Formats: sequence, C-alpha cells, structure tokens
Amino acid sequence: MDLKAPEYIANYIGGRLQKPLGGNYMDNVNPAIGEVYSHTPDSDIKDVQAAVDAAKAAFPTWSTTPAEDRFKVLNKIAELIDANLDALALAETNDNGKPLWLSKKVDIPRASSNFRFFATGQMHFASESHMTEDKAINYTLRQPIGVVGCISPWNLPLYLFTWKIAPALAVGNCVVAKPSEVTPMTGYLLSVICKEAGLPDGVLNIIHGNGPNCGSAIVEHPEIKAISFTGSTRAGKQIAATAGPMFKKISLELGGKNPNIIFADCDWDKAMRTTLQSSFANQGQICLCGSRVLIEESIYEKFKAEFIARAGKLIPGDPLEDSSKQGAVVSKMHYDKVLGAIALAKEEGGKILLGGEAVKGTGRCENGLFIQPTIIEGLGPDCRTNMEEIFGPVVTIQSFKTEDEALELANMSDYGLAATIWTQDISRANRVAMKVKSGIIWVNCWLMRDLRTPFGGFNSSGVGREGGWEALRFFTDPKNVCVEL
Ligand code: NAD
Repeated sequence: MDLKAPEYIANYIGGRLQKPLGGNYMDNVNPAIGEVYSHTPDSDIKDVQAAVDAAKAAFPTWSTTPAEDRFKVLNKIAELIDANLDALALAETNDNGKPLWLSKKVDIPRASSNFRFFATGQMHFASESHMTEDKAINYTLRQPIGVVGCISPWNLPLYLFTWKIAPALAVGNCVVAKPSEVTPMTGYLLSVICKEAGLPDGVLNIIHGNGPNCGSAIVEHPEIKAISFTGSTRAGKQIAATAGPMFKKISLELGGKNPNIIFADCDWDKAMRTTLQSSFANQGQICLCGSRVLIEESIYEKFKAEFIARAGKLIPGDPLEDSSKQGAVVSKMHYDKVLGAIALAKEEGGKILLGGEAVKGTGRCENGLFIQPTIIEGLGPDCRTNMEEIFGPVVTIQSFKTEDEALELANMSDYGLAATIWTQDISRANRVAMKVKSGIIWVNCWLMRDLRTPFGGFNSSGVGREGGWEALRFFTDPKNVCVEL
C-alpha cells in the first residue's frame, strides 16, 4: 500500500473516509517550516453522532467475534504500521516538528507494539473465580462496555492514540476516537491502514476536530460509556466534571512536573547522558520528561557545569536532518506559552544558565518554531516555574543536602506522574521510590517501557491506569455471578 498525506484529511466513520458533515476545516501547520500543509476536519456533534451510530451498529458482531479473529485483524494493523514506518514517521514529523529519527526509532514502533501487545494479551485475558466454601461458586464476568471514546494529545500522536484504541478494541468494544487537532495526520493514516487490514466497518471510527466542538461532544454523548483521555490537567478537569455525573468510566492521563533526583553516588556518565534525554527529548514535550532536576549538593557545581556544556550542544535544527537532536516546538500557541514561562521564570528571580531564547531556523526552516534548551537556577521550590507544567525544553535545577530534603522537594508538586532516581545504593533507591508520590518511578534509567505494567499518575496527573491487564480491565465491565452449589 502507498500511504500518502492528503491535502484534506477525512474522517473515518462506518468504514468510510468522509468529509466533515458541516464542511468545515482547520489549518494543519508544519511547525518546523511555519506553513500550512494540510487541512483537518473541524468536526462537530453531527459527526460524533454518525460515529456513535456506526460504532453501535458494529458492536453486537465485534463483541462476539472470537478472540483469535480479533487478534488476527489487530495484529495485521500492527504489521501494516511496521510496513509503513517511513510514511508514518514523516507524517508525524511534519505535524509535530519532532526529529524524524526519533519518530522512526520510538513513536511509530511503539504504536505497532501497542496493537501487537493488546491483540495477543486479550487471548490470554482471564477472569477470577472464587469458591465460597462448599456453598457457591462466584465468578467475575468481564464484558466489553460498548462504545468508548478515546481522546489523545499531540506530543506522541500515534503512540498515545493507539495506546488507548488497541486495548479497547481488543476486548470487543467499538471506538470513537479523536486525535489532537494539532497533529491529525497519523490518525488519518491509521484509518487507511485499518481499512487495508480488514477491520470491520464501524468498529473504529476516527473523527478529527478540536476540544470544544468535537472532544466535548464525545465526552457528553450519553451512549459513549467510557472515556480514555490523555492530555492536559485543565481539559481533564472539564472531562471529569462532565463524565462524573453521567457515571461514565474515566481514565485520565494528565500533566506532570516530574522530579529527577540525582544522588552523589550515581553512575555519572549514565545519569548525565540520560538526564539530557529526559530533560530535552522531543523538545521536552513528553509528559514523562523530568523538568525539575534535583542534584545532591556535593556534586551540584560539577554536574551543573557539565550539564550546561552538553545541553548547549543540542542545537535545534531541521527535524528531517539526522544530525538534529532537537526539532521544532509543536505550534505557535505552544511556542508563545513556553517563551512566556521563561519570561515568568526571569520575573521570579530565576537565573538563565543556558538558552532562554527562540532560535532562528535556517533554509526551509527559517520560519520554524525553535527554542533553545533552557536551564534555570535559583528558584524556590514553590514558585510557579517549579509548580506549573511548561512542557517545553525548559528545566530548573536545584540542590539538596539530604535524602529527606530531596523527597520534600520532589513531593512539593501537585502533580505525581513520574520520577527518576539516580543512585548506586540499592536500599536508598527502594526507600526513595517508595516515598516519592508518583505513579511511575525509574531507577537509573528513563522511559523504559514494559507494556505489562500499569501506567498512570497520582493527584493532578490523573486517575485510572492504562497498560497491561489494567487497560483490558478498564475497557470491560465486571459483573459478579454467584452460582449456588
Ligand atoms: P489538551 O488537553 O489541550 O488536548 C488533548 C486532547 O483533548 C486533544 O485531542 C484536544 O482536542 C482534546 N480536548 C481539549 N479540551 C477538551 C475538552 N474539554 N473535552 C474533550 N476533549 C478536549 O492537551 P495537549 O496540549 O494536546 O497535550 C499536552 C498535555 O498532555 C500536557 O499537559 C501533557 O503533560 C499531557 N500528556 C499526558 C500524558 C500522560 O500519559 N499522562 C501523555 C502525554 C501528554
């Protein structure tokens, strides 16, 4: 198959690629060159209704399709994602501004893994049963919910989109899914792949649009019984407020302000190399990036000097070039937000040790949205810069004297998504991991993923867990059956 990015993106409803019913489109901008390169449907309630109707019609057959047949078609989607790696990665880079090599190495392979993992996992998914002495047998029946809504953000467009869709489909639900309007192209190309793979019509419906017109129509729709959402804490609050009184199941994967705790006994080279990645990978636009780097006092000055020197070599450039370690920031709105956060850090008394400025691109990227990796020092732990998510190539560094102080600083945030701990002392690593209030803790590594583990945050980073059996459980309704013996 020949996957091509069209000028006008189509919705995928009931197996058909179609125009938005209202006929409205939004511009899709390539942030590395600052130009509109395609148009995205500005779908609304009418398109959502058509998608829900198609999903409802497909549900009786899909939910009773044998697990092995569901496996075959979902696994075929994974194969086609792999076979179209280059086209998908290019589409993602053009939408997002991230380096092409990163998309090829991480994002697209992880998207196919999502389908492969959940396609296989549902064939082994078992439910519980309990003998109530010699009186009864109780078993838990797990049935698909029906039509579910999946809404995803722009930072890892296909990877996070498929992370939500694949488990929902695997256990027999039909899905109405919306990718971010900022990065719609890979979601569209997934529609084309699903058709080619032979996914039955209406099982997956992908509609494009913005949050207020389209996302909220999905959340508010009474026949959509569960919402799996990844995005900002702001939107997550609105979704919870709407879905709560409707008693929908919700999984909310939200923002973060992740601490990266570096003790003096760390493996220096590995901690340094990985901290550069966890601070600036994807221009810092990964919810799991460590944006507060906490360094033990005895190594603070040495770590700081080397960190600045090495981050200074991460010059942003054309994302299509293999040599570019940094790409463009995703949109003008986000670019202004990140530069505004740097200005705020200065007002709060922060000292900019590196960066702090926009960078002018060259060649085809002269109008691109580039920001230099930025390191800020001298801010208290409770200032806005250290409390609010920036979601760009911006980190603060702070020193600590003791393990207790490191924990206090780490836990000052309202968020609780991820944390990284660097130490060679195994007891300390386990002690600190137990006390840091985050849903995901990495010890001496970062962004290692095992799809069997539950994934999600605490506090303002969200509720619900995705990944592994947790995701398959989320997308099923448990029912207890008690049989008297
Ligand atoms: P966003 O909340 O603006 O948008 C996310 C998605 O929700 C988009 O598809 C958008 O159209 C839709 N949306 C927006 N408002 C909505 C509403 N009221 N109702 C329904 N849908 C709505 O987030 P973003 O700017 O696209 O993404 C960045 C955010 O996502 C950051 O805060 C980041 O930390 C977070 N994120 C979290 C994780 C995680 O796993 N916890 C992963 C990636 C990104």
